[in-house]
Amino acid sequence: LVRLRSRLSRSQNALGKGLLAILSRDRLDDDAWDEVEETLIGADVGVQATTEIVERLRERARVLGTSSPAELRKLVADELTAALGPDMDRTLKATPHDGRPAVVLVVGVNGAGKTTTCGKIARVLIADGHSVLLGAADTFRAAAADQLATWAGRVGAEVVRGPEGGDPAAVAFDTVKRGTETGVDSVLIDTAGRLQNKVGLMDELAKVKRVIERHGPVDETLLILDATTGQNGLEQARVFTEVVDVTGVALTKLDGTAKGGIVIAVQRKLGIPVKLVGLGEGPDDLAPFEPAQFVDALLG
Ligand code: GDP
Repeated sequence: LVRLRSRLSRSQNALGKGLLAILSRDRLDDDAWDEVEETLIGADVGVQATTEIVERLRERARVLGTSSPAELRKLVADELTAALGPDMDRTLKATPHDGRPAVVLVVGVNGAGKTTTCGKIARVLIADGHSVLLGAADTFRAAAADQLATWAGRVGAEVVRGPEGGDPAAVAFDTVKRGTETGVDSVLIDTAGRLQNKVGLMDELAKVKRVIERHGPVDETLLILDATTGQNGLEQARVFTEVVDVTGVALTKLDGTAKGGIVIAVQRKLGIPVKLVGLGEGPDDLAPFEPAQFVDALLG
């Protein structure tokens, strides 16, 4: 939690300190509540979610007749946590079952942090005693496969790659095949994310998924979202959810934004559980997402 807190320090300053400063005033009049609203919107929580959160906060503060900063902090924490769907299943389905490896398909736009997150997840799985095979299904850029291979070397995973310009679905198929034959625990498939050719990309992803499913189900389709892209990123995310059945979201670069409220917007708009958060570029800068703990870190 201490680490989460220090990595979120920018968000913390903007949202946590801002909110708490307003709520510690002697009088919480309409202006103060407007400022609470502005602070939440400024942190990318989203307009609709903010309106609802502030309405409930006002009502609860009124009913409780409360004005002590500690009590108000708790109210805020409760409301933000509630807005994050605290009861959703956030386990990453990345461990083997029924005698076969778990298959995780990693999707998202270029630069969102797919390759980095693949490396970090592999790191966690390997630390837990699992064997991991990575598949470089972004065959469009040789650099992408090189980068995945570098991560594989760094964390001690194997990697399957195809010829540059080859068929991504073939690489995905070969990776799952090899993973099954060699009995690895987890197969992580890194995909391309060129949004310039949206139709082509989406067809490609759908095909990758179909081809993997010839071996068996994809256990987790993880959408990687860059927290610094804010509401724009959310629109792009929707395109992916329409093509592949996304089962979880990893929100990266939360260390690089003052707008930690984006997690609430993602959760609400997509209705898909945020399972992981990226907090830096290093191999250990990945944390499971847990609403109450996250809100605690955010409020400082
Ligand atoms: P991809 O194109 O989706 O595979 O994205 P990459 O994995 O190549 O990441 C793009 C850039 O974002 C790289 O410079 C990464 O180091 C950086 N990055 C990824 N995740 C995080 C994160 O959680 N925090 C920060 N600060 N940088 C990140």
